[in-house]
Amino acid sequence: MGSETGLKAILERLRAAERRAGRPEGSVTLIAVSKKQPLERIEAVLEEGHRVFGENRVQEAAGKWPAFRERYEDIELHLIGPLQTNKVRQAFRLFDAIQTVDRPKLARTIARIAEEEGRCPRLFVQVNTGAEPQKAGVLPQEADAFIAECRDLGLVIEGLMCIPPVDEEPSLHFALLAKIAARNGITGLSMGMSADFEKAVAFGATHVRVGSAIFGERMEG
Ligand SMILES: *Cc1c(COP(=O)(O)O)cnc(C)c1O
Repeated sequence: MGSETGLKAILERLRAAERRAGRPEGSVTLIAVSKKQPLERIEAVLEEGHRVFGENRVQEAAGKWPAFRERYEDIELHLIGPLQTNKVRQAFRLFDAIQTVDRPKLARTIARIAEEEGRCPRLFVQVNTGAEPQKAGVLPQEADAFIAECRDLGLVIEGLMCIPPVDEEPSLHFALLAKIAARNGITGLSMGMSADFEKAVAFGATHVRVGSAIFGERMEG
């Protein structure tokens, strides 16, 4: 197999979606979601010049990204999966951004470790826009209070993140996330995946998270 990935095609579609939405070219960051992908495919995307990636498990990221960081400069890694409080310090070392700040205990731990380390990754609050019991994220009606609580702890919230329910029209969820962000003075919006990132751009996404459309199917397990 050659080193051809879906990266170029997705970037073209992303730039076209920006134009259609009347948004400046390059205003949306593509996060290439590399979870459960073979190292060769990640390497192919790095070789094509892409530098922004997302992983949903701390342990998995720890197994591959330190080595890639030694070989490629300017890598920007986003944590897009749940974070346990006992892994926060490790997450600080591995990730440039944590998109899954979703509960007071986690926010307090991040604030404490940021104080100790004198630095903090960029932070996004995850909102469970569909109020799904099995999904992480603060409930929409609790988002304002939680964001305020984070700010009281001294945390800077750069954006909001959501994963819409699989069986619902994502636009409603994108619109809801954008509304919560706007009323809290937050500009970052991480929303949209392989199947719906163009729609997310129309609703103001600043970050889209695309995995399988770039890398192909994920490995199981
Ligand atoms: C896996 C994952 C993605 C990417 O999903 P695709 O459908 O492969 O594009 C995006 N966001 C989160 C939070 C994920 O876990």
